[in-house]
Amino acid sequence: MVHPEQPTVPSKISIFDGHNDAVHLIREYKHDGIDFLGHNTTGHLDLPRARAGGMFGGFFAMWVPAEQPCEADADLTASATSYAVRMADPLDPAYARRSIDAQLAALKSLADRSSGAIRISTIVNEIDQARHDGALAILLHIEGAEAIGSNLVELETLYNQGLRSLGPVWSRPNIFGHGVPFAFPSSPDTGPGLTPAGVELVRACNRLGILIDLSHLNERGFWDVAAKTTAPLVATHSCVHALCPSARNLTDKQLDAIRESDGMVGLNFCVNDLRPDANRNADTGLDIVVRHVIRLVDRIGIDRVGFGSDFDGATVPNAIGDASGMPCLIEAIRNYGFDDVSLNKIAYENWFRVLRLTLTPGEMAEVKP
Ligand SMILES: [Zn+2]
Repeated sequence: MVHPEQPTVPSKISIFDGHNDAVHLIREYKHDGIDFLGHNTTGHLDLPRARAGGMFGGFFAMWVPAEQPCEADADLTASATSYAVRMADPLDPAYARRSIDAQLAALKSLADRSSGAIRISTIVNEIDQARHDGALAILLHIEGAEAIGSNLVELETLYNQGLRSLGPVWSRPNIFGHGVPFAFPSSPDTGPGLTPAGVELVRACNRLGILIDLSHLNERGFWDVAAKTTAPLVATHSCVHALCPSARNLTDKQLDAIRESDGMVGLNFCVNDLRPDANRNADTGLDIVVRHVIRLVDRIGIDRVGFGSDFDGATVPNAIGDASGMPCLIEAIRNYGFDDVSLNKIAYENWFRVLRLTLTPGEMAEVKP
């Protein structure tokens, strides 16, 4: 029976998402946090809203906030047509390790108390099983590798605990490289790229079968990874620079490199990276989101575009609202002429393809010199 308030959707599309920051809001991590297994009205993601939106899994990011949080927007300089956020300070590695350990423990205890409804998954077959079972698959991701020392011992430990995706930097400097600052309008070419330790980190990720996320690297860091990695190039949550020239977004040249490596882009729903004026205004139509999808498909191909929502980490369009609004976005894309075959690729099959190539080290080419 269909409830009258439910929109009628032609065919429900299953979704695997490239990025969320939900761990920061759950009660296993934060003492007054939400019950992820129940329905909530704050934030973007919980199990019921994921199910309502057709989402069966995604990259769950672990990210370390500043040790001494400052006032909201204290580091922001903005005018009517531009903004720049002062680059975040480096983190103390011991503090970063404690924070990542706490986030990892929180996600594991959430999975433990979910009676199989939430599963930490390390291979595509497990993720696909979650899709068949109506469960939610967590692919563990770290955004900024401060918890890992230059001898990479912690990388192996984290791999053994299920880590399968890593951004060497968030938008701050660390021993592996320099992140891209938040700025508009701005080129992503904002500073030096990977350090020698960063190059070793890339090699180790290739060897283990950990996806390297390019999303918060500056342009030189992007090209340094491209020169060394044997895996397809992947930006888990980024938008198109030609449509919104924010430093976080990907230029046509970067998109071309992603296409040539047979990698992919997960489209970020962050309104200030989508809108041509970069305003943090949630009253942003789905047409603006779809324009990025179309531009990505035109530039890199239908097999290389997915979603990287940034749920619980960004201001997303009210027209999506939260994870339960994903069918609205799917229908908006469908209305531009995409059929079910194309929609399924964007919604999850492209992530499966790239993850299959990346998480199985034996399938990757020889190490580049
Ligand atoms: Zn991010």
